Amino acid sequence: MGKLAPSLLEADMRFLDEELKRMERAGADYVHIDVMDGMFVPNLAFGMREIRSIRPSSALPFDVHMMVQEPIRFVKRMKEAGADVITVHYEACTDLVQTLRTIRGLGIRAGIVLNPDTSLGVLSDVMLAQADVVQLMTVRPGLEGQRFLPGSIERIQALRKRIDDLGLNCEIETDGKISMENVQEAVAAGASVIVSGKALFQGNLEENIQRMKRLIEEGHPKGGL
Ligand code: ZN
Repeated sequence: MGKLAPSLLEADMRFLDEELKRMERAGADYVHIDVMDGMFVPNLAFGMREIRSIRPSSALPFDVHMMVQEPIRFVKRMKEAGADVITVHYEACTDLVQTLRTIRGLGIRAGIVLNPDTSLGVLSDVMLAQADVVQLMTVRPGLEGQRFLPGSIERIQALRKRIDDLGLNCEIETDGKISMENVQEAVAAGASVIVSGKALFQGNLEENIQRMKRLIEEGHPKGGL
């Protein structure tokens, strides 16, 4: 069954506790939290302290996307702050396999994120074997006001095929400008975790989450596993 991960970055920061409770009530599966270090991406967002402070407001797993140079420095403290999944950028790690092993060693799920300009070919079988999820950026990370990049659907399909050919149990997550219009295409291509921001938070959050969840379930190629 496909999972929906509303992006905390688009929530109303004045009412985070309420926003988190709304997500949970409406049936979201994860809370997607973008961590930005101002180095790997030209922006800043969320650190361990903020994540720890909102942890009691939600029973949902926290999907922490680290847009951070050398994230291995922070993964233990991220886990302690409340992360259930930590994804790290291929482009930001000197030793990606070691970073993934360290995350898994903490007893939580580990994932690789690829920027849109990074070829799928950089991923070795060893890297994929250490990943519970591969997250494909469908916009350039850390910037605002972008569109869903053309070619993203083909990338999801190609990665799905590679993972299936290797016989791995690895999910594909998409991050960036997923809307009610394109979510089913992403799911049909093989994505099973969908991050969504503005499409959920503009208007009625609970209704939007329910609507997108339905679209995800209908769009699943195997009718929802
Ligand atoms: Zn993200």
